[in-house]
Amino acid sequence: MTEREIKGGIKELSPIDVYMLLPRTNCKECGEENCMAFAVKLVSREVPLEKCPPILKKEKAEAYKKLQELLAPPVREVVIGLGKRSLRIGGKLVMHRHEFTYHNPPPIAIDVTDEMPLHPNPERKDEREGIIDRIRKFEGFSYDYIGKRLNLDAIALRSTSGNPETFKSVVRAVTEFTDVPLILCSLDPAIMDAGLSVAGDRRPLIYAATKENWKEMAELALKYSCPLSILAPNDLSLLRSLARTLIDYGLNDLVLDPGTFPEEGIAATINNFTMIRRCVFK
Ligand code: SF4
Repeated sequence: MTEREIKGGIKELSPIDVYMLLPRTNCKECGEENCMAFAVKLVSREVPLEKCPPILKKEKAEAYKKLQELLAPPVREVVIGLGKRSLRIGGKLVMHRHEFTYHNPPPIAIDVTDEMPLHPNPERKDEREGIIDRIRKFEGFSYDYIGKRLNLDAIALRSTSGNPETFKSVVRAVTEFTDVPLILCSLDPAIMDAGLSVAGDRRPLIYAATKENWKEMAELALKYSCPLSILAPNDLSLLRSLARTLIDYGLNDLVLDPGTFPEEGIAATINNFTMIRRCVFK
C-alpha cells in the first residue's frame, strides 16, 4: 500500500479496489444484493467488513488482511473499556469533520481524585461531594445538543495522594460501582501498576507516558493490553519521538497529548492539535 493510499483515506479509496478483494460470489449473506453494493457501503463506512461471512474464511485470510489495511482510517481508532460501554476515540477519515459523517465525537469525562472521600462526611464542611455521588450524577447526566443527546463517556481517576495503595483502593471502589470506561492518571509507574492491578482487565486508558517514564509505562500497557497516552506538553517533536519509540516497542493503541494550556496558551494548544491532524492528512 502506498503512502498516498494510507493518507488519502476515504476520499481516494475506490469501491472497485475494495470489490476486487471481496469474494465476488454475490451470495447476499451480507444483506446486500451483490458484492459491489457491499463494497460501496464499505467505502462509505456504513457497514463493517465482518458483515461478509465468506471473507472471514481461512482461505480468504490474505484478502481479508489486505481489505483491513485498505479500509483502516488514517487516524487509528482506539478503544477504551470493554463491551457495550466501551468508548471509541480517533478513527478519523478526513481532515475536517464536515467532509464526512461525524463519528467518534470527542468523549466527555469527569475526573475524581484518590483524595476525595467515597462518601462525604456530613460533619465536614469541606467534604460536600464524594466520589460515588459524583459518579451517580455522571451516570444520570445528558444534554441535548443540535439534535444529538450528549452523555458523559468516561471517568478519569487521578492519583493526587501519591500513594499506590490509596489509588488502588479508590480504583477498586469505582470499578465495583460502575462499568463506565476509565482513564487512570498518574505519571508514577508504581501508582499506575497499583491501579491496573485491580482495573487492568477493564482496558482503561493509561495516562500517561512521558520522556521520563515511557519504558515502565510501555511495559504496563503491554502487560495489561491497555491503550496508552503519551504526554509531551507543547513539544510536538518530543511527542513524535516518543510515539515512534513506543510503536517500535510493540504498542499501537496510542493517544497523543500535546497538552492543553488555558488563557494565553490557548493559541498554542489549538495550533498543536491542528498540526498533529495535518500531519496525518497532508
Ligand atoms: S456476503 Fe460477501 S461475498 Fe456475499 S454478497 Fe456480500 S460481499 Fe459478496
